[in-house]
Amino acid sequence: MHVPIKQEIMQTFEAFYDSNWYVLGDKVKQFEADYAQFNQTEYAVGISNGLDALHIALMSLGIGKGDEVIVPSNTYIATALAVSYVGATPIFVEPNIETYNIDPNLIEAAITNKTKAIMPVHLYGQACEMEAIKAIAVKYNLYIIEDNAQSQGAQFNNIYTGAWGDINGTSFYPGKNLGALGDAGAITTNNKDLAQKAMVLRNYGSQKKYYNEVIGHNMRIDECQAAILSVKLKYLNNWTEQRQQIANWYHEELAGIEQIVLPKTALKATHVYHLYVIRTKKRDELQKHLNDSHIGTLIHYPIPPHLQQAYAHLGHKTGDFPIAEEIANTCLSLPMWPGMTKEMVVEIKDVMKQF
Ligand SMILES: *Cc1c(COP(=O)(O)O)cnc(C)c1O
Repeated sequence: MHVPIKQEIMQTFEAFYDSNWYVLGDKVKQFEADYAQFNQTEYAVGISNGLDALHIALMSLGIGKGDEVIVPSNTYIATALAVSYVGATPIFVEPNIETYNIDPNLIEAAITNKTKAIMPVHLYGQACEMEAIKAIAVKYNLYIIEDNAQSQGAQFNNIYTGAWGDINGTSFYPGKNLGALGDAGAITTNNKDLAQKAMVLRNYGSQKKYYNEVIGHNMRIDECQAAILSVKLKYLNNWTEQRQQIANWYHEELAGIEQIVLPKTALKATHVYHLYVIRTKKRDELQKHLNDSHIGTLIHYPIPPHLQQAYAHLGHKTGDFPIAEEIANTCLSLPMWPGMTKEMVVEIKDVMKQF
């Protein structure tokens, strides 16, 4: 996906270079309009990266010290870090063992009078069960902040991820489904007031230069990245279709192998396969076997947030979130990128079958 659009990217870069305008200019405005349209939200606000987008989303809602925010127990650490940055406490809720996404049936038990928000993460590219999550949020008067870093273009019941929550964050880290050439991210929302707050917070707390309304950050998306992302966004649906085709080949080829668990998609959800994650008890041995045949795999993620040293102060221990721990101990992400051929999938199957 990198080579075919190189020329187009280089032309875009040259125009950017010649514009002599490198921060918060027309390219950022254009990308924000493009991405809002793609995501079918009223607003998109370009942010420096995905973690900062989640951080600003929480700040925009006024979530802070003493508050609790519900996050899945199996996620990339960034989801929890954003909660910690504003002084709130991440409260972990276990995922469903089939979809790997937060289990809506377990959320209510984690709600206290300090709970302010639920942060669903559409993990590996599959949309969470947003209708059930939204019903809980409405019942308890909680905000929803989607972590849409892995799932641009996924839907639940025909509504895009990143369009369900009050204010949502996404990431354009190079490895994501829509990747910049460096760090970048965005907020999406249908709420004008929250979009406005996010724009002020990302830019030193200022709307008018040198007039600072609040204690803000420098968390702006780069003009250069925005220009490149507008080009790449045009190809995203096509890349997603390729990912889904590759996933189908994997499903077909690996279906007969008893020792591995294949990914499952929930009713009404779509999956954009940021990652194709299988599970097996002999994960480490299988990874080594594949590696010996020059098939690179990764583990997303080897240590769940509650067992990270950074979160030792929360006092969690092994066994507290057994489903997240089981996933961490058995998951393996197989190669997945647009442009992969069926032959590659068959070869990976053959090497796995030898094992
Ligand atoms: C990548 C990722 C982030 C953070 O995005 P960055 O742009 O790397 O800061 C947050 N949450 C999840 C689930 C991610 O995968």
